[in-house]
Amino acid sequence: MSAAPMDAIRTAILEDAPGEVIAGLPLPDSMRAAVVRKDDEHLFDGLADKDKDPRRSLHIDEVPLPPLGPNEVLIAPMASAINYNTVWTALFEPVSTFRFLERFGKESELGARHDLPYHVVGSDAAAVVLRTGPGVTQWKPGDRVTVHCNYVDLEQPEGHEDSMLDPSQRIWGFETNFGSLADVSMVKANQLMPMPTHLSWEEAASLGLVMATSYRMLVGSNAAQMKQGDIVLIWGASGGIGGFATQFVLNGGGIPVCVVSSEEKAELLRRTGVEHVIDRKAEDYQFHDENGAPDYSEMRRFGKKIRELVGQDPDIVFEHPGRTTFGASVLVCKRGGTIVTCASTSGYLHEYDNRHLWMRLKRILGSHFANYSEAWQANRLVDLGMIHPILSETRPLEEVGEAAYQVHHNLHTGKLGILVGAPEDGLGVRDEVKRAKHAEQIAVFRSIS
Ligand code: NAP
Repeated sequence: MSAAPMDAIRTAILEDAPGEVIAGLPLPDSMRAAVVRKDDEHLFDGLADKDKDPRRSLHIDEVPLPPLGPNEVLIAPMASAINYNTVWTALFEPVSTFRFLERFGKESELGARHDLPYHVVGSDAAAVVLRTGPGVTQWKPGDRVTVHCNYVDLEQPEGHEDSMLDPSQRIWGFETNFGSLADVSMVKANQLMPMPTHLSWEEAASLGLVMATSYRMLVGSNAAQMKQGDIVLIWGASGGIGGFATQFVLNGGGIPVCVVSSEEKAELLRRTGVEHVIDRKAEDYQFHDENGAPDYSEMRRFGKKIRELVGQDPDIVFEHPGRTTFGASVLVCKRGGTIVTCASTSGYLHEYDNRHLWMRLKRILGSHFANYSEAWQANRLVDLGMIHPILSETRPLEEVGEAAYQVHHNLHTGKLGILVGAPEDGLGVRDEVKRAKHAEQIAVFRSIS
């Protein structure tokens, strides 16, 4: 059984033991892990999406520890967070993630380790390094880290300017096995970043995936490249990626126009300094009729509302709901403006009137996660106290199914955290002076929840 060695490791971490002590502690043979099982792949066949229940497909199983290879690191996640990709995995939508693992398994001997009858999920962590594999030079046992989820080898030329363009690029814990919702996880050394010293485990774990995605979409040099004074329309502005988009726009001198679905969320955003909020539920926009045909008069009504608020059309539209909003996003974007998209939560077959795009010289940019440099820059902004976590609540690992259910049904705000090694909230802060300096802002952004 795994309990005793894992308990000893956790105790050492919580007591802030030196790296040599952690390196000397034996690893358990097995561990707790949140998994989906290959046997369950057809569990939801024939059900409508809303009736597919992650609480039935996410299990806490006892599984062997991940094997360690070259340039890899074993970490002990103290906390993690729920991302929408874990929801997709748990619903086996739009495809079963076992297809990703099988494909990976065929690629190489190291890839074959990932092709298992279970998939350990999770793409965010604040963790401690337990062991490093051959070739790792920058990290050592005992280091406190946050993890970004871009899993890439860079053996081919295409990714060397931007690793997101590498043909072998994968998302850790979604397209690979051994994700973060487990007592021990396996990552590549080039996924690690220093954990911001003023944050708790669960706060630091809530940042990675959504924050770096929003950074690339709006700030980095690979997508919309927002400028000071830009008007940015943000869908889901109190959700995961939208909450960070809002912060990046405020922080970078832009003007966010935030769309949410309740007055409560609107009020929370106002407290963070947002001036312009649209409550899409209260306005009751119906961008499609009952047969699914687009209603452009409704989209124009939405555009008129934005002009009333800020006096012009948005320079950038931060798009991710997909099918239900995409036509409106293209229509309301400014002449010459940019629609930047990273997802299609409500459906990936979009319809829009192309005249709105070409006649007004707009562009649509696809964006996907972030490269190491972008993730590192975003992490640095947190460490500097310029960007803050938007964690709303935490649950223990055993409640991962319920947490995924909350996200699937849009019952949450900000990020939902999962305590893995940490026994309670609030632990892991190393620099209390720095925390005190940013305490007010941390509280404001955590109040998005
Ligand atoms: P989230 O925390 O659930 O937030 C999404 C927000 O979008 C919701 O809070 C909701 O806000 C709004 N929304 C949902 N459905 C909508 C609809 N039909 N119309 C208008 N607004 C809607 O999720 P997230 O973590 O931000 O992720 C959002 C999407 O991005 C997911 O599909 C996820 O898989 C994807 N994603 C992609 C990448 C990538 O690298 N490509 C990275 C991260 C996330 P209101 O109800 O308040 O309006």
